[in-house]
Order: sequence, then structure tokens, then C-alpha cells
Amino acid sequence: MTQTETAKTAEAASEPSRCIICGGGTFRPAGVSSGYRIFRCMGCGFHFVHPLPSLEEIAAIYEKYSSNVLYSAKAERKVLRAMKQIKRYLKPKPGDRFIDFGCNIGTGVEAAHRLGLEAYGVDIDEESVGIARNEYPAGHYHAGAVESLPEDWKDFDFAFMIEVIEHLPDPHAYFEAMRARLKPGALLYLTTPDAGHWRVPKDFPAWQEVFPPQHIHYFTRTAMQHFLPAHGFEIVRFVWSPKTRLKVLARKL
Ligand SMILES: [Zn+2]
Repeated sequence: MTQTETAKTAEAASEPSRCIICGGGTFRPAGVSSGYRIFRCMGCGFHFVHPLPSLEEIAAIYEKYSSNVLYSAKAERKVLRAMKQIKRYLKPKPGDRFIDFGCNIGTGVEAAHRLGLEAYGVDIDEESVGIARNEYPAGHYHAGAVESLPEDWKDFDFAFMIEVIEHLPDPHAYFEAMRARLKPGALLYLTTPDAGHWRVPKDFPAWQEVFPPQHIHYFTRTAMQHFLPAHGFEIVRFVWSPKTRLKVLARKL
């Protein structure tokens, strides 16, 4: 490769070529945050950091960043809120199997357990899972990637995925691994920041949810309408939120 060719390749790599959600090829720059460039897909409104941060950059940030500090009163409120959500959206029966993808300190798992469900949780962060095991020992926990779950973690009826997808470098791979663990007909309740919400500022990086490299992918309803069916989920409904939050209930086909 000549020097000019190398320079051209580098230039091309700095521009996105295809939307990973809708496949579209038209983008607008949406600003820069902490040195990371953000683009908006004109097809589906998906916003994304490009180029993606390296895994080393992401790991370095997470070592410094602790979201798992346990304030008991706050944790108990989270358990009660998760119980309300489970009852409202999933309508479970005792003995049904529940899994929280990205379970953090286990408040969702504990909520499911209190409702009589078989409760499981997985999180990549070992420290959070350690707290979960101590605080809420009735749950089953796994620290690691969703691809590394024990074999018998399967046939789940219900899944939570709360504020996880915006962190994932490869949401497609994650969803394939996750889907394999659910029963046909299983319900998934997912939340993530809503880049299409009317309250998101025009100056995108001014939005409080924009903090790469932790948040790298920002969905919209339209983006979800492409993404979930592509992984064999039908959207049951979007739940309206006054906050800039996308909440979706989906069913595995
Ligand atoms: Zn798109």
C-alpha cells in the first residue's frame, strides 16, 4: 500500500459506512463528546460513537467508575420498583424462570425472588456480582459475559435488560447469546436512553445520557423496530416515559 492509499484507508475508516441497526448508509455528525465522534443514522435515528472505543479504553474507564456503591435504602427502593415492573409488565406465576441481564448488585433478581420466581442474574462486573451474592443470596448469579453462562441457565420465561444495551460494543452478538437462553414466547423488558425523545437537546452531546466510552449506542423507537425483529423478537409495546427513556416490552418468537 502506498502512503496515499494508507491515508485514504484511514480517512474512510473514520467515517461510518453502514448503520449496524437498519443497514442505511446516510449519516450526519451529531457532535463530539470526550473526544469521541458521534454520528446519527438518517434512516433509523440510531446514534453511535464512531470509531468505537477499543476494549482497553472501555476497561480502563470501568476500573475507575463505580456504579455499584450500595446504599441500602436506595437498593431497597430499587427492589420495590423492580417488583412493580415485574408485576406490571411480565405477569409472572410462581416458579417461572427469570433472568436479569446486567443484574448489577442484584436488586432485580431479589425482586423476582420475592415474587416467587426462580431468579437468576448475570453481570460482567465481578465486584457488583460479589455484592449481589452477599446482599441477596437467594438468587443465582454469574459474573462474566453472557456468552459464558452455565449450560443449564436456559428456558427462561422472563428477562430484564435495564440500561445495558447502550454500553455494548456488539449488541447483535449479545442478543444472539441472550435469545438462546429464553423460551419461545418469553417476555423481555428492556430500557435504554431514548435518542428519539422530544426532550433530547438539539446539541446531542449536551444530553446527560451522552458519556462515551460508557454509552456508545443510542437507540430510538425506529431503531428498536429494526433491531428486535432482526433477532426474532416482536415488540409487544413501547411504554411511554416522561423521561428520555426508551422502555420496550418484547416477546421472543
Ligand atoms: Zn440506521
